[in-house]
Amino acid sequence: MKSKADVVIIGGGVNGCSLAYRLAKKGLDVVVVEKKYLSSGATGACGAGIRQQWSTRENASLAIQSVKIFEQLSKELGQDIEFRQGGYLIAVHDEKEMKQVEKNVAMQRSLGLKVAILKPEEITDVVPILDVKGMRAIGATFCPTDGHANPFKTTFAYADAARRLGAEINTHTTVTDVKTTQKAIRAVVTDQKTIQTSVVVNAAGIYSKSIAEMVKIKLPLCPFRKEIMATERLQPLFEAMVISFRDGIYFSQQKEGQIVGGIPISEEKVGYKTMPTFAFLQYMAQTLTRYAPILKHINLLRHWTGFYDVTPDARPILGEVKEVKGFLQCNGFSGHGFMISPMVSKLLTDLIADGKTSEELENLSLERFKSKKIEKELSVVG
Ligand SMILES: Cc1cc2nc3c(=O)[nH]c(=O)nc-3n(C[C@H](O)[C@H](O)[C@H](O)COP(=O)(O)OP(=O)(O)OC[C@H]3O[C@@H](n4cnc5c(N)ncnc54)[C@H](O)[C@@H]3O)c2cc1C
Repeated sequence: MKSKADVVIIGGGVNGCSLAYRLAKKGLDVVVVEKKYLSSGATGACGAGIRQQWSTRENASLAIQSVKIFEQLSKELGQDIEFRQGGYLIAVHDEKEMKQVEKNVAMQRSLGLKVAILKPEEITDVVPILDVKGMRAIGATFCPTDGHANPFKTTFAYADAARRLGAEINTHTTVTDVKTTQKAIRAVVTDQKTIQTSVVVNAAGIYSKSIAEMVKIKLPLCPFRKEIMATERLQPLFEAMVISFRDGIYFSQQKEGQIVGGIPISEEKVGYKTMPTFAFLQYMAQTLTRYAPILKHINLLRHWTGFYDVTPDARPILGEVKEVKGFLQCNGFSGHGFMISPMVSKLLTDLIADGKTSEELENLSLERFKSKKIEKELSVVG
């Protein structure tokens, strides 16, 4: 393990690994420290949907630019990350929601996104197994270029490419302290070795809050336990991810045929509890079969939990903090950190390697929480 690096990244999830790849490509000496195995955090638990339909400009813009990167990422990294564009169909349930949707779609179209507002009778043209009455939908939006990728394959492909470019990735190694001198980063202490560095990126998912406390920075992050399930493999039935912000449900059919999806339940609690619940299974089965009655007789194979690292406005915290030179945030993804990881790593690389900032990084800095006027992302489940 190296004892010196240009940049130390804490966390071997999709964000840490994608950033390691981009920084190494710029010729920087990068070390990643991951306490378990790559993808062991939220990344390995996630639904890995890739959606560009957001209510805030930053999220939409980050996702749109990320899709452009995803489209050629398998080729760039030399491994198939199973990126597919089956679209996202978002159910709309009442006039109030429709008004917000119209605003969102106008903003998304102004960024160049092709997104349609569907009448109820058009919904089954996109996802034939849906029961529009059962869904209680008055319409939907559909963006055909939204999609899905494999979160494990994406993370491993980034890590392999980063290693080929000289990055060092240490798994089963825990960061225990971050040292500063005169309000600037000096070193990262791990349970194996201390690494001298002037730049630390905090990409530790829900544990980013405790990493920041090591240098006396308070992050407004909250761990939300989420449950998710996968069914047995079925023949191909539909291509799009189906989602409802009101019901909180999301589900899609994977390449191998399983249906993967989740829904928030009232028992869902803030905290680090990983125990899955029977209440989730019951509620998920009830809602899923209300949306798609044809799925009533299929078998559920497995069910697991993961965590969202949620911020007060459901938008990530990115970039250098004012109080400690060289201490950068890459966390607070609030349930959508997989889909924007390509662009997040690009913007952070521009900042670290070239000192170039961007409107997105400015608007998503920790500083924004000092202002009373924060714009909340509304297009979220749970
Ligand atoms: C059920 C569920 C469904 C989701 N669905 C989607 C979706 O459809 N689309 C989407 O875009 N996003 C989704 N998300 C969110 C997405 O998974 C996360 O936003 C994203 O994976 C975050 O990646 P990350 O690399 O920032 O963090 P993580 O993957 O959490 O990685 C952080 C890593 O830091 C490590 N770490 C922590 N502390 C230390 C330490 N002290 N020392 C060393 N290492 C440490 C952890 O072990 C972990 O591996 C979902 C999340 C869940 C839980």
